[in-house]
Amino acid sequence: MEKQNIALRLTNTETREKEVIVPLNGHTILLYTCGPTVYNFAHIGNFRTYVQEDLLRRTLQFFGMKVRQVMNITDIDDKTMKGALDSKMSLEDYTKPYIEAFFEDLQTLRIQPAEEYPAATDYIPDMITIIQGLIEKGIAYVGSDKSVYFSLVRFPKYGRLSHLPLDELQVGASERVGSDEYEKDHVCDFVLWKSYDAERDGTIFWDSPFGPGRPGWHIECSAMAMKLLGQTIDIHVGGIDNMFPHHENEIAQCEAYSDKCFVRHWLHVEHLLVDHKKMSKSLGNFYTLRDLLAKGYTPEQIRYVLLQTHYRIQQNFTFQNLEAAKASLERIADFVDRLERITDHKSHGALEPVLEKVVRNFTLALAEDLNISLALAALFDGIREMNGLCDKNKIGKKEALHALKVLKELDAVLGVLPLEKKQEKIPDELLDALEKREKARKEKNWKEADHHRDVILAAGYVLEDTPTGIRLKKGS
Ligand SMILES: [Zn+2]
Repeated sequence: MEKQNIALRLTNTETREKEVIVPLNGHTILLYTCGPTVYNFAHIGNFRTYVQEDLLRRTLQFFGMKVRQVMNITDIDDKTMKGALDSKMSLEDYTKPYIEAFFEDLQTLRIQPAEEYPAATDYIPDMITIIQGLIEKGIAYVGSDKSVYFSLVRFPKYGRLSHLPLDELQVGASERVGSDEYEKDHVCDFVLWKSYDAERDGTIFWDSPFGPGRPGWHIECSAMAMKLLGQTIDIHVGGIDNMFPHHENEIAQCEAYSDKCFVRHWLHVEHLLVDHKKMSKSLGNFYTLRDLLAKGYTPEQIRYVLLQTHYRIQQNFTFQNLEAAKASLERIADFVDRLERITDHKSHGALEPVLEKVVRNFTLALAEDLNISLALAALFDGIREMNGLCDKNKIGKKEALHALKVLKELDAVLGVLPLEKKQEKIPDELLDALEKREKARKEKNWKEADHHRDVILAAGYVLEDTPTGIRLKKGS
């Protein structure tokens, strides 16, 4: 299957059109993904976004593109600062365990690492440079409270991502801003540099040409994205709740500063609901990844659930979803196991067309805006058909190995199949005992069958009845 001949198209939030994805520099997609604010453990809604971003990254690679991904760590914001000050810790000591937990969780969910994870605290000089540039251009100004603000009237293109006209944004902004609004020229103007407030900020501040203080959250992403990826990047992704104002503000800051297009394609991942409700601690439907692992669900099951719904559709998470994921993964595992046990040396020729169809449909589904539900359907349709061929002994060993190779290629996108797990080698004498037991049972020689069963049990193995026959499994 020549994937190079199929174009990958993604829906750009800004144009609302499906657009063909081709790296601007001809070889590597420059990808920026908004990362976590490290004042707490990330919840499964956050992880839905990170898993979907991982699906995007793996799909870009599947379509032959290289990826350079930057994911920021927001270690300066109201919540991290309040947390550090309340617990009388340095910002670094306070955020460290949450940063470590975040990386651990990414690994648990088999999320491929980004090329860079910059922390905001390491890029303050770059933020200051941009703010200075914006002041020099007359786009930013110092407010009556000594904070620096971005003047929205100086950036008429504002609002093109969320498709909201400026006067509507003003209504929303005045509700949100409250008492702050008199410090700014205009109610919609947003902060680039927050001036130091001893009561609020305690010992946490940075010096700057505009006086002591700290950067606003939005300028953090603009600075790290432009510094590490350049002034124009291919794809920027984030959760839908970051679209306004965070991403609108990123565009305003970057484009007003550089006079270049900041992002070629914007992608937003929709919300995750739990039992049809917004996740909240007071409703008792708030879960971190660790909460689900503690309930006994496996990383693969959780990843599968977070993966299976199209990124632009709201996902309703339930525990039934996790049970269904378990069943789906078992179906794949049983099929893999079945392929691995084929010993027939003949080739039958029936498998190849099925495999080709699976790969084609899987690829076409992903090519149309990462349609993961269709891609998974293509895989399961294929497994059903191939199981049918197994039933009729129409798959030879060589063909089975090829099918396993193809499954592995598809799993480079999914990251859920049990292919990479170390297969435990079952001792030959036990496989021999199993074969003799089955033979004895067929001959209704129960005594001998029981004897072979006892040999297997004594070695610490159990006999497991699967849809494809009896197999041995290490007992617990
Ligand atoms: Zn961001």
